[in-house]
Amino acid sequence: MFVKRNILLTPGPVTTTEKVKMAQVVPDICPRENEFTDLITTINEGLIKIVDERALDYVCTLLGGSGTAVVETILVSVVGEESCVLILNNGAYGKRMVRIAEIHGLNFIEYKSSDREKIDIQDIKRNILNDNNKITHIAVVHHETTTGVLNDLDEIGLLAKDFGLELLVDAISSFGAIHIDMNNMGISHLAATSNKNLQGMAGAGFIISKITSIEKIKNYKKKSLYLNLYDQYQYFLSTGQFRFTPPVQTLYALREAIDELKKETIEGRYSRYSQSWETLVNGMRNLGFSQYVPLKNQSKLICTFYEPDNFNFNDFHDYLYERGITIYPGKILNKNTFRIGTIGDIDYNDIEYLLKCIKEYL
Ligand SMILES: *Cc1c(COP(=O)(O)O)cnc(C)c1O
Repeated sequence: MFVKRNILLTPGPVTTTEKVKMAQVVPDICPRENEFTDLITTINEGLIKIVDERALDYVCTLLGGSGTAVVETILVSVVGEESCVLILNNGAYGKRMVRIAEIHGLNFIEYKSSDREKIDIQDIKRNILNDNNKITHIAVVHHETTTGVLNDLDEIGLLAKDFGLELLVDAISSFGAIHIDMNNMGISHLAATSNKNLQGMAGAGFIISKITSIEKIKNYKKKSLYLNLYDQYQYFLSTGQFRFTPPVQTLYALREAIDELKKETIEGRYSRYSQSWETLVNGMRNLGFSQYVPLKNQSKLICTFYEPDNFNFNDFHDYLYERGITIYPGKILNKNTFRIGTIGDIDYNDIEYLLKCIKEYL
């Protein structure tokens, strides 16, 4: 079967390989059958190994839903009545965690900083943690997809360790492309999804938790039926099944996507993505576009550009869309920007094609 290949330069969902697309085409199956629970076990092991090579101290809890569902699951499940979470906000996804905390009435403190800069660890230490002994958790977005700023997880991990805090990480747009060592970085719970750097289909999220941390929440008051980390974790342990209907075909595609990542390796994937990014920023500079985030703060996975004067984004979008390329508007308030992602099953040749189309458009 032939499926048209679109170049998605949106930072998720991304362009997938033909094999990942085709992996979804399987005989109908009831997800309570052994064959399906074996699939789940394989996926869980594969995902854990990406962030903990020994795969001893962590568990993976899959959930049907988008990335926001897994971030919300972590926050509602692990921030208990006696807890207080410090939410680091330097972009739209940090702000989303704040919204989740507000809606569920969690105890939280927001640390807000510029969306063009990495989170300033020294400032947090000096001005927040040194004179606050209520805080029990830190929540942070590893890679702020809003702008392409990459926060420093090594340093945030050290800070959390120094103050004895549990670290919660939204790694949705870094997982699979940037090396994360949960144990060394002292991460208690991490959220990611099937459809960004993993290059799978949208629809499945997962949480990787340190076993000692997930066991601590056992007796916490339940605040959601579906978004309940401990209950789903226990259900996988006792039955190997999802409590509720999983995205069956997405999971078959995810198994194939994990295999493809193993073959390419995280380093290989990062070098392909960042090579596309280099091609992009050099080409865009030559075309007169300027970047929103200082180079030293960028992930090299996506890039935010200022719109030139007299620019009509929708018109620009449509021009590219007709040529098989999809791009996304900016997410930054009061600034006219747009984003181009270089993640997914694309390489610098696709970016050269993009640059050629942009040149013609201008
Ligand atoms: C994509 C993304 C999410 C989740 O978005 P959904 O639309 O709910 O999948 C959350 N955090 C980050 C950093 C992301 O890039």
